[in-house]
Amino acid sequence: MNFRVPILFLLIVSLLASAVHAAKLDLDKLKDVKEKLKVLKEPSEADEIEIGKGVAANLLGAAPPVNDTKLQAYVNRVGKWIAMHSDRPDLPWHFAVLDTDGVNAFAVPGGYIFITRGMLLRMRDEAELAGVLAHEVTHVVEKHALNTMRKGNITGLASDALGKYAEKKGMDEFTKIVSAGTEIYARGLDKEDEFAADRAGVVIAARAGYDPYGLPSVLQTLASINPKDDAVTLMFKTHPDSGKRLELVSSSMEGRLDEYIDSPRVESRFFSIIKSHLSSYKPTLIK
Ligand SMILES: [Zn+2]
Repeated sequence: MNFRVPILFLLIVSLLASAVHAAKLDLDKLKDVKEKLKVLKEPSEADEIEIGKGVAANLLGAAPPVNDTKLQAYVNRVGKWIAMHSDRPDLPWHFAVLDTDGVNAFAVPGGYIFITRGMLLRMRDEAELAGVLAHEVTHVVEKHALNTMRKGNITGLASDALGKYAEKKGMDEFTKIVSAGTEIYARGLDKEDEFAADRAGVVIAARAGYDPYGLPSVLQTLASINPKDDAVTLMFKTHPDSGKRLELVSSSMEGRLDEYIDSPRVESRFFSIIKSHLSSYKPTLIK
């Protein structure tokens, strides 16, 4: 009897079987990856703005805006000018000064930027304001807060919550995301995101026509504040050391932005707005 044929036949059958098996495994894998991609679907710009609105409302509940329309309009003008020179000029940008002595600034997804009165009063000119706003605008442009939520590094937020919201627009997911999104401002972003926002912020400020050293001079001011001062507790808890930030941003600027050093700092306009604010200031009563 010739055994060759059946052996060859069996060999072919077994090869075919393992090929089919491998193909099935690959298909399973593909299905798995597809499922994951679906869950991790990136929120649309409309979702981002909606989530930002919820988070902004929470932050405004903790610290209301300063009751000074002239000051708010001024910060909005500078902020929108800065945002126009970023990579997302078309977002519905909103800027507001919060009525608190704490020294801080926040960037909320979708284009909501807050700066505290405590920080504004420590500034010396418009280039410093522009530098801080450009740092915050970068957080929004680069989606730093949104990506922190997507990575699921926040207590109580599953990494797929944002994806599920993007898919189904569920109210439950929305509430969870907004509360997790608000939590970011108590614990801060990744250090690397802060350094990146400093590096890009000075470039945006320069593009907008300001002396790019505005942000480094604010970092210098921050580095000179006693860390035990209550006004900086949250800021220092949520940001890398100001001296380290200053060192890194300065070295990133060396030789690259020198031609912009003579750009204006705009001291007089800044001071006249601050002066008129101080003469009419009445603290907002938190309801
Ligand atoms: Zn920041």
